[in-house]
Amino acid sequence: MKLARMPDGEPEIFHTLQGEGRGIGLPSVFIRASLCNLHCRWCDTDYTWNWVGTPFAHDRDAEPGYAKYRREEQIVDLPVGAVADRAAGYGCPNFVFTGGEPLLHESDWVALMVNLRGRFVESCHFEVETNGTQLPGAEFLAAIDQINVSPKLGNSGVEEKLRLRPTVLRSLLETGKADLKFVVATEADLAEVDRLATELGVDPGRVFLMPRATSVAELDRAGGWVAAACVIRGFRYSDRLHLRLFGAKRGV
Ligand code: SF4
Repeated sequence: MKLARMPDGEPEIFHTLQGEGRGIGLPSVFIRASLCNLHCRWCDTDYTWNWVGTPFAHDRDAEPGYAKYRREEQIVDLPVGAVADRAAGYGCPNFVFTGGEPLLHESDWVALMVNLRGRFVESCHFEVETNGTQLPGAEFLAAIDQINVSPKLGNSGVEEKLRLRPTVLRSLLETGKADLKFVVATEADLAEVDRLATELGVDPGRVFLMPRATSVAELDRAGGWVAAACVIRGFRYSDRLHLRLFGAKRGV
């Protein structure tokens, strides 16, 4: 499996609290895939895709010391069994597959879920965090418990035809396992969220708004208007708990 590689060379597999969405606060083991098919300009896991030689712009480009990543330094390739050994080693039955875009490696996750369920019998709970552009097959959809879909808005800087696949979003919602989580930067983003939610006919209780923030100060600044937008629409508010508890760090 192609996983994100920590600066010490270890795969990004860690035990923490789920920080976003429906499962917020739930102790979980995170497994971070490398590679993504999008290139959001505010992405906070840009070490999974923003490689030297690629043309994509990032908000951090002007930051002193920021540079695109060397792909070979950011990926660790491990057999499914080795990933399962590490993930199961925490003794926690809740797993979150994140990235990058984990559904680029769908068959690996199916094999991992089979392996982990074999160890924890029926107590396993699997969540995946996806950008909603990849439709997994029946085997994956049967095995996964929760699909956290984060369709990207215009604020990502990615062309609409790449970031929004309504047929995929509809199919994911039809599983009854999917929530939509929108990262909103300004109140102007709400019009796009409203249009999408209406087009998709999604239950408002399945929609989360989350402030775009990489610091607690940014979270707090946006919290008021995002919360008010949720109240009016019957949406849910998602914080970024890991940011409050641990700061903008990897592996937490
Ligand atoms: S889809 Fe997610 S991982 Fe991929 S570039 Fe956008 S924010 Fe980053």
